[in-house]
Amino acid sequence: MTTPTAITPNVLTIPRKQDGDALPNLIGLTRDQLTDALQNVGIKEKQIKMRHAQIWQWMYVKGVQSFDEMTNLSKDIRANLAAQFQLSRPEIVTKQVSTDGTRKYLLRIQGGHEVEAVYIPETDRGTLCVSSQVGCTLTCSFCHTGTQKLVRNLTAAEIVGQIMVARDDLNEWDLEPGDKRLVSNIVLMGMGEPLYNTDNVRDAMKIAMDNEGIALSRRRITLSTSGIVPEIYRVGEEIGCMLAISFHATTDDVRDKLVPINRKHKIAELLQACRDFPRLSNAERITFEYVMLKDVNDSDEDAHRLVELIKGIPAKINLIPFNPWPGAPYERSSNNRIHRFADIVNAAGYSSPVRKPRGEDIMAACGQLKSATERARKSRAEMERGIEGL
Ligand code: SAH
Ligand code: SF4
Repeated sequence: MTTPTAITPNVLTIPRKQDGDALPNLIGLTRDQLTDALQNVGIKEKQIKMRHAQIWQWMYVKGVQSFDEMTNLSKDIRANLAAQFQLSRPEIVTKQVSTDGTRKYLLRIQGGHEVEAVYIPETDRGTLCVSSQVGCTLTCSFCHTGTQKLVRNLTAAEIVGQIMVARDDLNEWDLEPGDKRLVSNIVLMGMGEPLYNTDNVRDAMKIAMDNEGIALSRRRITLSTSGIVPEIYRVGEEIGCMLAISFHATTDDVRDKLVPINRKHKIAELLQACRDFPRLSNAERITFEYVMLKDVNDSDEDAHRLVELIKGIPAKINLIPFNPWPGAPYERSSNNRIHRFADIVNAAGYSSPVRKPRGEDIMAACGQLKSATERARKSRAEMERGIEGL
């Protein structure tokens, strides 16, 4: 009598988790974490590599939102994955479109918190400004986000999820090589200090840069920091993206007031980290952001000091006219002052574009993001004017 061959199921059937427990999200896992997750649900060892590649492609090339759409996986596997995991992105609460085409997304994440992401189309590129925290622990005196307490760090899923939501909205999945990209650049310049959440920012950016997925070049991703010096070294080593520094002042006295983290990491220490940043060249320059505040940091002397300070660092200086917000204790420098400042910086050989405020009519400009919970509640009716139907 022959013994019947045992039929090994492709996947183990593991009971669905209890209601109320959020299923783990496959989005936002690093490659290694995804391997572990697939092993844990019993996908056969010798199939892991293939399944991993298939699932990664469905998530990050095709942008599918359900396991059902992963048609090269068997029905059993799809059902098993759906019972164990979710594929979730932040949820769009509102989308506002500025007269200049800028789109601001108010997004709801786990726990009911809200963050904002802003898409800025330009002729030669489309930049998505991504948040890294709900609120910010730092209290830069000219920044609206700084008036809101930190609620929490975003997870890697919530950070890469902002890119995915924008691509859903712009209908930008399944690109062929050479296709023009709508979201071609990422700036980590939304709410929060990315270098107080370095691990999650790194994992999210690794996913965004992964060549078998979203495949954004590291040179099209810029991380902006107020100056968390030890973490700047990690950006160079662990992420490899471009760096922007919220510089904003040319003496420690003034910078201590504008960017209070300066009391801990002084200008000299910050600039040393910039000098040590890897791969700097004319093609890979550090961006120094400089908000133009009337009579605070905008004198000719400031401009001269600035170019002295950064001497030798391949750099460009991004002058940002101050964007006002209700109750802000500063005024924007005059256009003449900004151009005079830019001329001095230019004459020293640095490119110094003046950042054109985008999306001002929808409070989407730099430093105007603030979570929303409050503002949205306060003026839901006002916000709804000009919101495109979802
Ligand atoms: N927390 C990080 C990332 C935010 S980036 C950082 O501070 O670098 C947003 C940029 O806009 C920063 O350079 C910030 O200093 C600047 N900013 C903040 N408030 C602003 C305002 N009201 N007007 C213009 N720029 C502002
Ligand atoms: Fe935080 Fe950056 Fe605003 Fe400073 S400028 S409060 S670090 S978000």
